[in-house]
Amino acid sequence: MKSKINKRLAGIAVLAVIATVVGITIIYYGLFQRQVRADLSVSAKLLRDTHYFESVNIDTDDIDLSTDIEELRVTWVAEDGTVLYDNDASAKLLTNHNDRPEIQEAFTDGVGEAVRKSDTMNQNTFYYAVLLDNGTVLRVATNAQSLWSVFMSVAPIIILIILIIITICILISHLLTRQLIRPIEVMVSNLENADYESPYKELDPLSEMLRSQHTDVLAAAKARQDFTANVSHELKTPLTAISGYAELLEGGMVSEDKQNHFYHEIRKNADRLLALINDIIKLSELDRVDHGIAFEQIDLYEVAKECVNELSVSAKLKDISIDIDGKESSIHGNRELIKELIENLVQNAIRYNNPGGKVMVTVNTIDNSTCLIVKDNGIGIPAADQQRVFERFYRVDKSRSKATGGTGLGLAIVKHIVEIHDAKLQLDSAPGVGTTISVLF
Ligand code: ADP
Repeated sequence: MKSKINKRLAGIAVLAVIATVVGITIIYYGLFQRQVRADLSVSAKLLRDTHYFESVNIDTDDIDLSTDIEELRVTWVAEDGTVLYDNDASAKLLTNHNDRPEIQEAFTDGVGEAVRKSDTMNQNTFYYAVLLDNGTVLRVATNAQSLWSVFMSVAPIIILIILIIITICILISHLLTRQLIRPIEVMVSNLENADYESPYKELDPLSEMLRSQHTDVLAAAKARQDFTANVSHELKTPLTAISGYAELLEGGMVSEDKQNHFYHEIRKNADRLLALINDIIKLSELDRVDHGIAFEQIDLYEVAKECVNELSVSAKLKDISIDIDGKESSIHGNRELIKELIENLVQNAIRYNNPGGKVMVTVNTIDNSTCLIVKDNGIGIPAADQQRVFERFYRVDKSRSKATGGTGLGLAIVKHIVEIHDAKLQLDSAPGVGTTISVLF
């Protein structure tokens, strides 16, 4: 950033200097040309007013102006264009001057002017011609620097000025960038300080965004850490149990009549491990493929019916009745994930219910949006826990969850699937009354 600002400032300065110098040179050269012409016309008119060329009897050998007027070339031209006299070259060597525009102009208008590139590079010759009373024309000429040579003569100064200005610009830009960047650096180092106000108002949205991103990153890192710690803990418990039971069996320390119980415990803990690992895999898959999931039109009612049928056996075992109500309702979603979502909600409604309890699954349309409602009249969730039940591994009653095969990840998976489908989740629950969870697509 600093070097970019340096380069841009220096670039702007160089352009500004060049533009100024070119502009001033052109203006100056215009004035200079005008001055040269004015001087020439004065000289020509002065010479004319001396009536010297009208008095000399065309005996040009007598005329000698070369010593007096060195920078001024004086040419005297007869009516037919013949050069009668030239103080710079011998008149006899010069060709007829009738073709010279300034001479033609002088013959017709009384005065004539012209500028021509001189033989010597970088020089222009300015001509001014006046018609004398005797019909001849007197022309004066002088050489002056061309625009290019004027420009080149100031080039070393321009280069020097440019170098000085670039140095000054680099110094200024160093100071400026330091001043500009300093508050940004301070802002970055104060990202965690919510009270910090950035010195530039324009930076407020950026600092807000950075701060919230920073907070999100920290929160995500913390959640990952917590999750890893929780997973390790959750895996360790059943594994320790399995290892302990197996050790006792291996050492022949269990009487034959109790062995079956130990085998049962080992299997139960192994099932728990499997359930846990399955849920962890599901969650990590959901985290990973968030945006690459194939969506299709599916009938929510049909999927819900399938889940209810599959779970009705386990509901019956717990003396819980399960019913479904609604009609064909099409949604845009992933069938497998939707099935997972419904299964988790219905399983919970069975798991946290009382014998003789009821579970009702409804699929209907509310305000143009398809809605899935899973309602039970079970133990309910206390208000204080309602916000947290969707967190990973959060359980209201840990022992009940474990005893019924819960992993503490079911509702976290539900929440994730709901987010993927851009749907809304609603929880209504009261302890002792029951729980209703609605998903609005
Ligand atoms: P779990 O595997 O323990 O059921 P979940 O994430 O599915 O984990 O649910 C988290 C917690 O929310 C459960 O442990 C339970 O305490 C509570 N919960 C979930 N569904 C219900 C429900 N229908 N009725 C009462 N409590 C529920």
